[in-house]
Amino acid sequence: MISKEKKDRYNSNRRKRYKENKELFKLKNAQWYKNNKTTHSAINAKNKKEFQEKANLYKLKNGCIDCGYKKHAVALHFDHIHGEKVRNICDFRNWDLALAEVSKCVVRCSNCHAIKTFENKEFRGWRKKLNLDNG
Ligand SMILES: [Zn+2]
Repeated sequence: MISKEKKDRYNSNRRKRYKENKELFKLKNAQWYKNNKTTHSAINAKNKKEFQEKANLYKLKNGCIDCGYKKHAVALHFDHIHGEKVRNICDFRNWDLALAEVSKCVVRCSNCHAIKTFENKEFRGWRKKLNLDNG
């Protein structure tokens, strides 16, 4: 495990080097991408597909915590209920890395998720649209 200080130092050095040689980095990156476009895209697509399969399996296995729905993974969401949300589960490409974030969530179907969000007043936009704040 790398310490946070070491990681910060490493990242700050990288940022410094990037700033100093911005144009060179951009050129090198563009060249690399041009040379590796097919393999790079294929690996990304493969990782994404594998991740989605694992996430869908997890969602279908657990089902909605409120109503038990488990027919289709597309209608099942990861609902953050514990701890602080760092990022959306669907933004991950690696299931093992996503597990820490998944552990903060429960699976909830889109209907139950919408109702829970509305009732907990987590999304102020809905209340404004429905003029609930005026009364
Ligand atoms: Zn439900």
